[in-house]
Amino acid sequence: MIKTKAIQIESTGGPDVLKLVDLGLPAPTQDQIVVKNSFVGVNYIDTYFRRGMYPANLPHILGREAAGEIIETGSNIIEFKKGDRIAYLFGDAYSEYVLLQKIIPKDEVLPPDISDKVGAAALLQGLTALTLIREAYQAKKGDYILVHAAAGGMGLQLCQLLSSLGAHVIGTTSTSEKAALAQSNGAEFIINYTTEDVVEKVKEITNGVGVDAVLDGVGKDTFETSLECVKRKGTLISFGSASGVVPPISISRLSPKNVKLLRPSLFGYITTKAEWDRHSTDLIQLLQNGSLKIRIHEIYPLGEASRAHIDLESRGTTGKLLLQPYI
Ligand code: NDP
Repeated sequence: MIKTKAIQIESTGGPDVLKLVDLGLPAPTQDQIVVKNSFVGVNYIDTYFRRGMYPANLPHILGREAAGEIIETGSNIIEFKKGDRIAYLFGDAYSEYVLLQKIIPKDEVLPPDISDKVGAAALLQGLTALTLIREAYQAKKGDYILVHAAAGGMGLQLCQLLSSLGAHVIGTTSTSEKAALAQSNGAEFIINYTTEDVVEKVKEITNGVGVDAVLDGVGKDTFETSLECVKRKGTLISFGSASGVVPPISISRLSPKNVKLLRPSLFGYITTKAEWDRHSTDLIQLLQNGSLKIRIHEIYPLGEASRAHIDLESRGTTGKLLLQPYI
């Protein structure tokens, strides 16, 4: 049995419910692999599970994304071998070692020029950003697209990917430092929503038309603004709840402008092997050729996961947060 330290919750609540515990991993079955994590991605979804916004059986080990080295494989595993470095989704990732089930592939062998750090930082948000602009809304050259929290982990990747397509990115941020960062990642226009009226500024930038699409990961606090900013026949993609869950709305509110409203989840876009292969292969290529650069905000020791959650939820971060196990 492998001994591992992990971050576990026994009850839901604030960041103080995150506890560093010592656990034992059973030997892998013939369909499992054991991965020694080198970096673990911190994602907003982890805070939703911690708070109880998403249900989980307790005790629960948080985490949906990491990268590391395969140290053991079950006898049925042919896709991977011991020593491969992989980045993966799923698994109880806030841990030194994890057991991964090899039924549906949600992992990618990392090529030599992609580090574990970049792999762990890019996979979940990179795939989300790619699928949002390909599947939820097919972004194209000349589009005006409003991206909320443009200097966040998702925001910086969306700014880069959209601007490289030739879209006009209008980003919102809360500070001038975040504004500068979003601009250096491709946002053409920035609205500091603490000092400027987002709806008025969007009207000014788009000559009163509104934007083709809104990418809104902030949720409750921005939904009404997003609905006002989207143009007739435009698309409003509400993909997260950083400020809280959007209250239920009547579908008739979409009629005045014939708006398309989506609330997508990454996992619904990478369900089949073909979908996974397409998007993950493209993501690796974008990282390899430098078209997508990942900004790491801070690497926290695994035992300081609660500090990472506090920072993420207090709007104090830009880019991606990682945890580093002690081994
Ligand atoms: P960010 O790094 O973007 O952090 C959240 C940012 O939201 C803050 O920095 C802040 O930016 C802004 N914000 C505005 N109001 C609030 C508030 N009340 N509380 C907290 N933050 C606020 O986080 P991520 O990049 O990790 O995630 C962004 C969103 O994307 C999340 O909602 C997440 O759930 C979602 N997501 C959805 C996925 C999906 O499959 N649907 C997959 C991955 C992520 P500022 O100060 O500039 O306003």
